[in-house]
Amino acid sequence: MVPAVNPPTTSHHVAVIGAGAAGLVAARELRREGHSVVVFERGNQIGGVWAYTPNVEPDPLSIDPTRPVIHSSLYSSLRTIIPRECMGFTDFPFLTRLENRSRDPRRHSSHSEVLAYLRDFAREFKIEEMIRFETEIVRVEQAGENPKKWRVKSRNFGDISDEIYDAVVVCNGHYTEPRHALIPGIDTWPGKQIHSHNYRVPEQVKDQVVVVIGSSVSGVDISRDIANVTKEVHISSRSTKPETYEKLPGYDNLWLHSNIETVREDGSVVFKNGKTVYADTIMHCTGYKYYFPFLDTKGEVTVEDNRVGPLYKHVFPPALSPGLSFIGLPWQVIPFPMFELQSKWVAAVLTGRVSLPSLEEMMEDTKMFYSKLEASCIPKRYTHLMAELDSQFVYDNWLADQCDYPRIEKWREQMFYKVFKRIQSQSSTYKDDWDDDHLIAEAYEDFVKFPSNYPSSLIEREYTS
Ligand code: FAD
Repeated sequence: MVPAVNPPTTSHHVAVIGAGAAGLVAARELRREGHSVVVFERGNQIGGVWAYTPNVEPDPLSIDPTRPVIHSSLYSSLRTIIPRECMGFTDFPFLTRLENRSRDPRRHSSHSEVLAYLRDFAREFKIEEMIRFETEIVRVEQAGENPKKWRVKSRNFGDISDEIYDAVVVCNGHYTEPRHALIPGIDTWPGKQIHSHNYRVPEQVKDQVVVVIGSSVSGVDISRDIANVTKEVHISSRSTKPETYEKLPGYDNLWLHSNIETVREDGSVVFKNGKTVYADTIMHCTGYKYYFPFLDTKGEVTVEDNRVGPLYKHVFPPALSPGLSFIGLPWQVIPFPMFELQSKWVAAVLTGRVSLPSLEEMMEDTKMFYSKLEASCIPKRYTHLMAELDSQFVYDNWLADQCDYPRIEKWREQMFYKVFKRIQSQSSTYKDDWDDDHLIAEAYEDFVKFPSNYPSSLIEREYTS
């Protein structure tokens, strides 16, 4: 029998932008595949969004383009939406650590526990040695003399570096550049406005009447966070019927309304349901924009109405592949395992172990995807939203198949469905009250495959009993 001959593979010099969860796992996968990696991180620590800071930007709406940017958008009380068993990387479970009593054992843990987990991950896989901290990427473009290479300019305080890389992997996150609601009459409305990016603690709005725009999980979470110290909280939702006016359970000062119709000079806020409130503050929980101020692709990649495109499978711009790629764009997903699978794919494509289709085929696939969205009346801004519950797992499994890696575990999928249902049916208690212990037990049976630096005696067994 003639032995199978593997195609020749090539290692590359790769720049990774950002040392959040996506950049960390991208660096690990790229190095595992044999590439040499430099991770550029403008902050002074790893963790990205999870590196909570009490500091906020001076412009509470974050509109001024010259403002000093604070990266993290987390508020002090934030606990994870996704349960920890589900949330971790596939081969480095996000377990409770018993040896250190400062760690948070809860299933939906505090943000500091997620940061501690990411630090464990970085330590275990020696990722910090690849990172240049306090080094901001200021420009990325194809190298003029050789368009297959990338010119990467970075700034470390006053020093500018100009280097050439074979590939650039963009992992700069997408929860820092706020989107705002357009509100009729807002120019003369006398109250305060703030975007949730700059919300940290309830005391910021103590004793006030607050209108929160947006009824996403974060909007509702923040509304509950402030309801205990404010006079009233009124959530304005664009996804309810115009006549909606409901008191939300568990509070006597928290209401759900339809959209805002207008705001007026006298401080009033009029909702489409006909109700009027006099508010001190409007809080925009209206999400974020994809933003790549450093990237110059001569128009090959654009951001239009929050669609980053054209991108093959949300990762590779066909005309610039495989040298440029993006990790972490899809949302309403379990992020870490998806980052991991996207990173494995990018790393394997760069070595040549896995091939991409031709430029024409990738363009065709991307165009078909966009046509499908249009035919289903899904706006451009939802291009990267994995809205249907199972679409992220179809996507994850497609990535896994490309790399010959195991598909997403059934328990993880089911746990995600379960938490989504719980958020809808018990939005104020879902983080502490659950009915999927059998899935937790299944997860822990899988986790013993990855002992890593977690001696079994230190694993919190509470959930498996
Ligand atoms: P980030 O964590 O944002 O990291 C990007 C990094 O890039 C940052 O460190 C930044 O400093 C760096 N950077 C940016 N620009 C540059 C530049 N020009 N040069 C150099 N460095 C740069 N996910 C969950 O799994 N579970 C949850 O419960 C959950 N809750 C969330 C709640 C909120 C309020 C928010 C905002 C997000 C939540 N997420 C949650 C999603 C979270 O964003 C992802 O889990 C994940 O951490 C994103 O990682 P990232 O690496 O893509 O981006």
